[in-house]
Amino acid sequence: MAMTTTATDRIFNFSAGPCTLPVEVLQQASDEMPNYRGNGMSLIEMSHRSKPVIAVFDEATALVREVLGVPADMHVLFMGGGATFQFGMVAMNLLAGGKTADYTHSGAWAKKAIEDAKAVGKVNVIFDGKPSNYMTLPDAASVKATPGAEYLHLTSNETIGGVQWKDMPTVNVPLVADMSSDFASKPIDFTKFGLIYAGAQKNIGPAGVAVVLIRQDMVDRCPNNLVGYMNYKGHTENQSMLNTPPVFQVYMIKLVMQWLKGKGGLAWAQQQAAKRSEILYKAIERSGGGFYKCPVDAKYRSQMNVVFTTPSEALDDQFVKEAEKEGLSGLKGHRSVGGCRASIYNAMPIEGAEALANFMDQFAAKNG
Ligand SMILES: *Cc1c(COP(=O)(O)O)cnc(C)c1O
Repeated sequence: MAMTTTATDRIFNFSAGPCTLPVEVLQQASDEMPNYRGNGMSLIEMSHRSKPVIAVFDEATALVREVLGVPADMHVLFMGGGATFQFGMVAMNLLAGGKTADYTHSGAWAKKAIEDAKAVGKVNVIFDGKPSNYMTLPDAASVKATPGAEYLHLTSNETIGGVQWKDMPTVNVPLVADMSSDFASKPIDFTKFGLIYAGAQKNIGPAGVAVVLIRQDMVDRCPNNLVGYMNYKGHTENQSMLNTPPVFQVYMIKLVMQWLKGKGGLAWAQQQAAKRSEILYKAIERSGGGFYKCPVDAKYRSQMNVVFTTPSEALDDQFVKEAEKEGLSGLKGHRSVGGCRASIYNAMPIEGAEALANFMDQFAAKNG
């Protein structure tokens, strides 16, 4: 018999993605898995043309619309390939044929979006965070689009660097945003956006699928000479079922959205995110003699990914190891930057942030 463990044995998971999901959702998925609602089989064994699967897609779409307040002229799509696939897809649909777009270079994820866009069209990097080592962002009010740009791309939260846009620029071209790591954590001003995409595994579900919100006038711009799967048109016309879709992922997104709605939606998420992040940034600030340091400009510190260092790399390692023993998992910084990182998405309870802050206090007192 395999080892069985219960939900109560779960630890606090601070991983950047895949990451912690609501235990109620995991439990429901587990209960419904072998025999989905009396159909005699699981959802992931059924035809995607079957009524139960279509119902899941309809409900997931409706919930994303309702919880986020997506306007009627925007489509809600679920697509395979995660956020990375969208880097190229955005460019192939909106930038091919000698067109130009503006990009903001805010860190590791923006860099990837820029590289893929450059492979397809002309890119103006209108902001480059290099002088600050990508630890700050431009004042949103100062951001201007280049005349003739198709869109302005930004990464709303840099998951690795821990920098987050607080206000969105107001420009005379549509914003296109990679919102992978702060999607559904606060309200969105949709009047500014033509297209939003987010890999699910940071706030709303399992990896492998992206939620794409695309306005109809952006779909109208998509060229007809693209291979089928690469064209947004085919996906909007087939309600995310252009091919066999990632049913399990979309089912999980549906459950997470239901959970979020029950908690109080984006207003609740925003208030929780503010609380959790404040608990951790305060723990950094109060550490004696600056034991912990957060390199990010205070104005743009992320409420989703809190990055910090201890006085040495050896202590960073020790911190991560000892925290793990206390049931505080996944605190190692990204391999490209080192240090420590606590990712605190929607499903992280306030108690998780408090437990980590307590541990930080103790660790600093012992090693400072
Ligand atoms: C995780 C992440 C991605 C990549 O997502 P995949 O689903 O792995 O492709 C892209 N952008 C941001 C901001 C991310 O956090």
